[in-house]
Amino acid sequence: MNMETHQKVTAVHLKRNAYLYVRQSTVRQVFENSESTARQYALRQRAIALGWPEGQIIVIDSDLGQSGASAVDREGFQKLVAEVGMGRAGIVLGLEVSRLARNSADWHRLLEICALADTLILDEDGIYDPAHFNDRLLLGLKGTMSEAELHVLRARLRGGLLNKARRGELRCPLPAGMVYDAAGRVVLDPDKQVQETLRLLFETFARTGTLRATVIYFRQQHLLFPTRVAAGAHKGELVWTPLSLGRACTAMHSPWYAGAYAFGRCRFRKQADGRLRQERLPREQWQVLIRDAHPGYISWEEYERNEQQLRQSAKALGFERNAGPPREGSALLQGKVICGLCGSRMNIHYNPRKHGMVPNYVCVGRGRLFGDPLCQSIVGTGIDAAVGQLLVDTVTPVALDLALAVQQEITSRLDEADRLRHRQVERAQYEADAARQRYMHVDPSNRLVADALEAEWNLKLRALTDAQQDYQRQRAADRFVVDEQERQRILTLSTDFPAIWRDPKTQQRERKRMLALLIEDVTLFKQREITAAVRFRGGSTTTLTLPRPLNASQMRATHQDVLQNIDRLLDEYTDAKVAHILNQRGMRTGAGDAFDTVSVKWVRYSAKIKSLKERLLEEGWLTVKQVSARLGIDRGTINKRRLQGQIKALLCNDHGQWLYWLPDPVTSLSNDKITSVSSTAGDAV
Ligand SMILES: [Zn+2]
Repeated sequence: MNMETHQKVTAVHLKRNAYLYVRQSTVRQVFENSESTARQYALRQRAIALGWPEGQIIVIDSDLGQSGASAVDREGFQKLVAEVGMGRAGIVLGLEVSRLARNSADWHRLLEICALADTLILDEDGIYDPAHFNDRLLLGLKGTMSEAELHVLRARLRGGLLNKARRGELRCPLPAGMVYDAAGRVVLDPDKQVQETLRLLFETFARTGTLRATVIYFRQQHLLFPTRVAAGAHKGELVWTPLSLGRACTAMHSPWYAGAYAFGRCRFRKQADGRLRQERLPREQWQVLIRDAHPGYISWEEYERNEQQLRQSAKALGFERNAGPPREGSALLQGKVICGLCGSRMNIHYNPRKHGMVPNYVCVGRGRLFGDPLCQSIVGTGIDAAVGQLLVDTVTPVALDLALAVQQEITSRLDEADRLRHRQVERAQYEADAARQRYMHVDPSNRLVADALEAEWNLKLRALTDAQQDYQRQRAADRFVVDEQERQRILTLSTDFPAIWRDPKTQQRERKRMLALLIEDVTLFKQREITAAVRFRGGSTTTLTLPRPLNASQMRATHQDVLQNIDRLLDEYTDAKVAHILNQRGMRTGAGDAFDTVSVKWVRYSAKIKSLKERLLEEGWLTVKQVSARLGIDRGTINKRRLQGQIKALLCNDHGQWLYWLPDPVTSLSNDKITSVSSTAGDAV
């Protein structure tokens, strides 16, 4: 201890506390490097020698086992800073003070606070006063060196790993289905069930094109998927669980299954709160990728194809949407329509109508992001029908090949699932046998072990029975479907594509699948007419021109022919009678319904056609009021005369209103006119 140090320590410092900060960055260091810990505690003696009473020396060691790379989560370090800031600390002691904080920002903040609060810093090399420029410079340098040291250390470790990884020799945790053999090479898991399940996963994805469909297929077929336990007591063991979407996704993206060795597929980023976040990197940024490094389940080409397929499925959800896989709705061109105005994929909106949902192809354009109005919207029914017809006309020659391929695929797929399910039975059988053996070999006098083994054997036997029953049930179900219904349908499909296409029993989803095999996309353009440019797979194009679909009121308008009929009939008949006659003639309203009094009245009103009453009044027929006024008799008398046939009368509407005809003084009354007119009117009532 030299004089300078003594000069730095003053009575003001000695009045305050001395803080001894003890830290080991990892739990392992805490146990293995106890020497360093002992040295840290020994600094206590230095503080006493400098004049601090023993009771004023406070040890902060709550950060043992915490890394100094960041102040976050280091409760002790934060406490230290707080104490210094409040001016309670006369001196801070640490083995190498710069190791107080391995992060420059944290370190400089502490120095700054120490300078303001007039707190000294002591390490094995000496005493520093951060308020002095020279001391602060030295301390700052020490902090920078310390951070650099950490960096070099890390880089050296990382470099060693990376070198090993570049040669493909660094052992990594392998996904289920891949194992290290005795020589340390990556090979396929020798377990046949594991292998075949993984193969089925990739084949199912290739067939269905979506992960979701793959997961559903596994569930429907009651197939389990192997997974390696990642942590805990059973780490590394293989367990069988139902296939989930996330698991399927991980498997699809794993290059290991494609026979490639990969390292550095993720990066860890430090967040504002000091925590680490894992980031997936694009393939160009992976640190190591060695193709054909070991055997795999799929080829590298298949792997790339899958990646692309997954990207497309993801795009079906985003703004840059692309062709999506067929779904349930009735719109035939789902996922295939492109807007002729702006080039975006068009959405489908289903609108409820009397006879079911009507698809509309709608382009929201960039409106979704910027709140613009719709780009264009087109009723889909006519377009669907036209494209369907186009397919029926164009596609017949290839139908045979297509259908045969479908049939073959379905059969082989079922056989494969059947084989795999049988593996599950075999595995259960094997486990039951093994349990039985263990039970047989145990010393009967060792009751405790024998009981446990017997219980295990029973458990395995039950699992075996379950597996067998499951297998039989599913097998029967498969056979039924193929034998009874599908087979017949497939055979017809192979001979007659148009008939299948038009068959109402064919599901819309199937139609869409067939369409997806043949058509790349359809570009729609609405002007006076609708233009649909159909692009077939392989590049040939056809342009269809369709009339613009009618709008709602046009669709419901009454046909011209029917209007003329109504006009003629109203010369003689009331609304109800007209409706009756129209129905007899098989005529329908604009909406396609039978006529009734109300609809005739409505057509009359909207087409401005005069009613029977108006026509009769124009001809000179009189109301009861007018007759009463002209003849000077009351209603009762008029009624009586009508019933006796003394006055000519006619029902003019369906509410029982009569109109009367008074003969001119010149012409005489004609009897036959009365009877014929009365009888007609009578029918209507
Ligand atoms: Zn558009």
